[in-house]
Amino acid sequence: VTGPEAPASGVRRWHAGLAWLPGQGVQRDVLIEASGDRFSAVGTGVRWPPSPGTVRLNGLTLPGLANAHSHAFHRALRGITQAGRGTFWTWRERMYQVAARLDPDSYLALARAVYAEMALAGVTCVGEFHYLHHGPDGTPYGDPNLMGRAMLEAAAEAGIRITLLDTCYLTGGLSSAGIPEPLAGPQRRFGDGDAQHWVARVDALGPDARGMLAPHARAGAAIHSVRAVPLQQMPAIIAWSHRYGAPVHAHLSEQRAENEACQAAYGASPAEVLYRAGALGPRGTVVHATHLSDHDVELLGGSQTCACFCPTTEADLADGIGPAHALASAGSPLSVGSDSHARVDLFEEARGVELTQRLVTERRGHFSGEELARAATVAGQACLGWPDAGEIVPGAVADLVTVSLDTPRLAGAASTGAGATVLEAVMFAATAADVSSVVVGGRDVVRDGQHLLVDDVPAALAIAIRAVLG
Ligand SMILES: [Zn+2]
Repeated sequence: VTGPEAPASGVRRWHAGLAWLPGQGVQRDVLIEASGDRFSAVGTGVRWPPSPGTVRLNGLTLPGLANAHSHAFHRALRGITQAGRGTFWTWRERMYQVAARLDPDSYLALARAVYAEMALAGVTCVGEFHYLHHGPDGTPYGDPNLMGRAMLEAAAEAGIRITLLDTCYLTGGLSSAGIPEPLAGPQRRFGDGDAQHWVARVDALGPDARGMLAPHARAGAAIHSVRAVPLQQMPAIIAWSHRYGAPVHAHLSEQRAENEACQAAYGASPAEVLYRAGALGPRGTVVHATHLSDHDVELLGGSQTCACFCPTTEADLADGIGPAHALASAGSPLSVGSDSHARVDLFEEARGVELTQRLVTERRGHFSGEELARAATVAGQACLGWPDAGEIVPGAVADLVTVSLDTPRLAGAASTGAGATVLEAVMFAATAADVSSVVVGGRDVVRDGQHLLVDDVPAALAIAIRAVLG
């Protein structure tokens, strides 16, 4: 770790040429002030230069992006699993090979580099859906949370916030007849035996009464899927989340085979099983939500359960396209995640939600640029248990992401400079490479496209991935 570590204390000021503000759209000449890690004042129409020490932000400034669904170690598979053919299930075999090789040191190095890549892409908070808990044969480490703590440390070193969605993973799957199968091979690393042991281990992480693990980190729960957690084990996980006001995430109906095995086991869909378990609600998030019935959409929307879409992964794994617009209309907030990290680009994930709906319906305009931006910011932060982040307003966590508008992708696309079109240009054409500066909790993490805490992010990724793949 090198570079300046500006303390998140004292008053700091930024002047944004353009900033997207809640309820006001894109505004010009916005003076943004933070005290410590929170915004303390936001004013529009302030001419440059406002006062000495103010940092100028050229381009469009957004609130912090939330990557609501991540498995950090999948980044090592980029380029490998894209070769050849197969299905989700053949991809999973390759993923298990990497899972088998990681140890706490190599995972820390890999996750630190992956989170640094995220920071460069404008991600200020990651939801790490973490199930790689134990040693290779399933034996816990001396500290049974060693791997989880490595994720917290990785996020700290990369300068971003994290919600550790500690994942309960008890069975290897459901047979086509709906019979739970034991964990086998690399899956043994994922298992805690039963939900009570999962609760004991996650309590040992040491969350405070609000579920906070550190100023940059909070604890959350995850039910891996109906394939990996039997219905009767789920209530203990939900009870844990109620105790801390913590989010609960679950993979849902990513594959038709999951729905079929779930019907065989329970005579119900995966969404109906989560509903029976009490897992749905405003603190709940279902990931993928691809193959849903109308009743599933009703249950999820009616309970205001968030739906997290991961369009680049869902395309990469040939999952299918979920009913994003029906879910949003039914009442589900939407968030986005880069999941397997086939790419790390939240702009691409967000517009993927709209563009995949266009391909399915042969119609345009299901979601506005502003709705997509909300999914990538305030809704994503909220589903990770940070409802006080993702908006540039006094009192919110002081995260800022500035997108340059003079890059080859955006030059001329937003020539009016204000109003809706500049936000549409960014949400439909920007890439992670257009992010020029990132502030997380009042602290500069990226400036002029350079990470200030991790020296050489590409080198860090290459070294960490080589160490894992051998
Ligand atoms: Zn996932």
